[in-house]
Amino acid sequence: MPYDFSGKVAVVTGGSRGIGLAVARRLSACGAKVCINYNASEQRAQQAVDQLRAEGGEAIAVQADVSDQQQAQELMRQAEEQLGPIDFLVNNAGIFDVAAHDEFGEKLWHRTMKINVDGVFYCSWAVKDGMVARGYGRIVNIASIAGLEAKPYAIAYATSKAAVIGFTRSLGQALAADNVRVNTVAPGLIDTEILDGFDQAQLDQLIDITPSKRIGQAHEVASMVSFLLSDESDFTVGQTLVLSGGRVNLP
Ligand code: NDP
Repeated sequence: MPYDFSGKVAVVTGGSRGIGLAVARRLSACGAKVCINYNASEQRAQQAVDQLRAEGGEAIAVQADVSDQQQAQELMRQAEEQLGPIDFLVNNAGIFDVAAHDEFGEKLWHRTMKINVDGVFYCSWAVKDGMVARGYGRIVNIASIAGLEAKPYAIAYATSKAAVIGFTRSLGQALAADNVRVNTVAPGLIDTEILDGFDQAQLDQLIDITPSKRIGQAHEVASMVSFLLSDESDFTVGQTLVLSGGRVNLP
């Protein structure tokens, strides 16, 4: 493993499956103690913990709906009680819905904002003061290229991810002098259950407009997340790193 995270404590929201699970596995393999947060997937979270422990890691699973501030705070409290002060927070939990403008209203809008935006805020706010007090912390948010370009079939999702990118930019600057670094990864199409929302024809079309002509893998996101958590990226603050096979190029 390229990084030594021995002794570090990491919380990965939505860590029982998909990108979150790949991140949790990677951080554990690098020596970090990992708290896997889940909301509904209790069995998968326990399986993930069992797997990390079998591989020699130290891991726990904690249930919390990150869109509820009290639950987000309780998640961090339990992680700190069982593992120690939190060094790394990976705000990965998120939902995605395909819905044209005439197919959704305030219910989907608010649900998306609650989980994808408020969840990132609540979890970050539950750890940032401790990180500032200790003079060390790393927060990596998982946004999406949807936050960087127009998504007419996913307006709420795209807006939520743009908000995460803006949050990262401003919070990154606010905390940098305290050695708390905040950055974001913006993936393109990654092979997880989130793709169940697309049919094969839509997936083929998305692959076709991807210069790399393929879907990304969760371990590739985990690799970029661990880079942003590591000291190798020490001068990277408030940034959004794109991982999309060339689909989106920032100027
Ligand atoms: P999955 O649908 O596979 O996983 C979503 C995760 O989010 C699950 O672990 C789920 O936990 C968790 N989650 C959802 N709602 C809550 C909540 N209220 N509280 C706590 N956890 C919650 O998706 P991915 O792994 O693909 O996505 C992970 C992140 O990556 C998301 O933020 C997504 O927007 C982003 N992303 C994904 C892309 C892709 O193509 N896959 C592309 C760009 C960004 P549980 O099962 O316990 O409810």
